[in-house]
Amino acid sequence: MIDDLPPLREVIAAHDLRAKKALGQNFLLDLNLTARIARIAGPLDGVDVLEVGPGPGGLTRGLLAEGARKVLAVEKDARCLPALKQIAAAWPERLEVAHADALTLDVAGHLAPPWRIVSNLPYNVGTELLVRWLTPATWPPPWDSLTLMFQKEVAERIVAAPGSKAYGRLAVLAQWRCDARIAMTLPPEAFSPPPKVHSAVVHLTALPEPRFPADPQVLERVVAKGFNQRRKMLRAALRGLAPDIEDRLRAAGIEPTQRAEQVPLEGWCALARQLA
Ligand code: SAM
Repeated sequence: MIDDLPPLREVIAAHDLRAKKALGQNFLLDLNLTARIARIAGPLDGVDVLEVGPGPGGLTRGLLAEGARKVLAVEKDARCLPALKQIAAAWPERLEVAHADALTLDVAGHLAPPWRIVSNLPYNVGTELLVRWLTPATWPPPWDSLTLMFQKEVAERIVAAPGSKAYGRLAVLAQWRCDARIAMTLPPEAFSPPPKVHSAVVHLTALPEPRFPADPQVLERVVAKGFNQRRKMLRAALRGLAPDIEDRLRAAGIEPTQRAEQVPLEGWCALARQLA
């Protein structure tokens, strides 16, 4: 459904929304494109959606048009609020705008679980938000999918396979408890202003259970330490975790001379169990 709201270029001019670099503002102005991104998360009928950083509201409009029951849009920049208010008026009862920092706002109570998270993320806080969403206190999490725009290089780290340069902490954290795929890549010209690099939309769906058993905190610690010195052999990179780290690596089916990027997800989980 097409809404009766003005084109985004007019919205930006009317509210003087000159993009601020410090807020990671690269806006999507093509409503066909925002509708396509919303559809990656869909179908949205009857579903609540959290959107971080709606900006002038292009993606917000796509999410509402795709049938979201309710969108909670969390925006830090007060300059965007009048434009978002206009959208809320066009979609009564369906858009809640929170003028807040997504890093500190507690969204529970605003949305019915399981909600979906859909966002063209500000690049400066994108990874931090993703890691938080991937590491809730309990699993399954209160969301069932994440549809997120990142710099392409970050997207590739999330879906990376073992043995590749991009494989690291983000891949292990994401793929341990989610299916993750790159759903769309976009050139810089898709945004205003254009960023320096390509972007990509990653779609993650939460699995009901982790792929392999492991204690989340132990797994996070081991993986962080292993990839922190990714060029070193694991017996050196993980020294300090246990006096008999070589034996524990072997018990987990990992050669102590291997490097972090050679170890598949199953191996990291087995090692976390050995160290629990
Ligand atoms: N969704 C819009 C679009 O696609 O055109 C804007 C995306 S822009 C990449 C990122 C947005 O996140 C900006 O509107 C920015 O003001 C907002 N933002 C930046 N840091 C934020 C934070 N910590 N919490 C909430 N919003 C934030």
